[in-house]
Amino acid sequence: AIYELTLTTVEFKKTRYLVCVAQDISERKKLDQMKDEMISAVSHEMSTPLTAMLGFCEFMLENEVPAEQQQEFLQIIFKESQRLKGLIDNLLSLQRMRAGMGCVNFTWLNLSMLFAELCQLFGKYSATHTIKVDCPTDFPLVSADQLCLQQAMENLISNAIKYSPNGGTVTVTARQDDGQVIVSVKDEGMGISPVVQEQIFDRFFRIDTKNGQKVGGTGLGLPLVKEIISLHHGEVWVESEEGQGSTFCFSLPLERE
Ligand code: ADP
Repeated sequence: AIYELTLTTVEFKKTRYLVCVAQDISERKKLDQMKDEMISAVSHEMSTPLTAMLGFCEFMLENEVPAEQQQEFLQIIFKESQRLKGLIDNLLSLQRMRAGMGCVNFTWLNLSMLFAELCQLFGKYSATHTIKVDCPTDFPLVSADQLCLQQAMENLISNAIKYSPNGGTVTVTARQDDGQVIVSVKDEGMGISPVVQEQIFDRFFRIDTKNGQKVGGTGLGLPLVKEIISLHHGEVWVESEEGQGSTFCFSLPLERE
């Protein structure tokens, strides 16, 4: 623990006493440190897509760029703006969670429709991966906050894309199991060592890749997914082997309509 000491003098029955007050400030220090980590992770993550977007815009403004190449550049700008939007959405949600206003708009959701929308969204800016959905159209409705659930899914799908090589397939599945719905997002990527499979759900935790390959991120995505799913009375976990891909799963209670 870290203590802050304050010395003061107090007079009692004509005698002056020197009083030392020790206050435990460990919690305050921890919060300060978390804020610093947050600012450094977030500002770096914001500046990377912004630099790319500015660079491509500047190039197009200053040069005669053929239509085909313009399309290619616009695709990059679109992808980078999505990345920036994803980060800002995560920050706003974390803020809402802290204010106790997390997931409050529960409605009956059709997962197969939600997955189809997500598939379309990711299809627009990820030509590098195939996204497959395995959820029957007559799947039972689940009680959930649509924006929250969508955000949890967006984090899992974007991670699946980010941490797996181009050309891979990401499979989104929903199934029923013992009164629960199990949703999973499976990738064919680098996988996660069993040693850190629990830690990846901690704030700011990121795995150092052995080959030094830099993949951008803040370590805020999975903790947010965990918080969202816990507000839905479900659990989140990962099944993975290094080099064999990962499957992130979460459960939601299946209530009767
Ligand atoms: P970020 O992706 O911004 O770093 P996350 O909280 O979403 O933060 O993920 C934490 C860490 O977990 C990542 O940095 C990465 O090392 C690991 N990780 C997450 N998803 C996957 C995945 N699908 N495959 C391999 N590693 C993953």
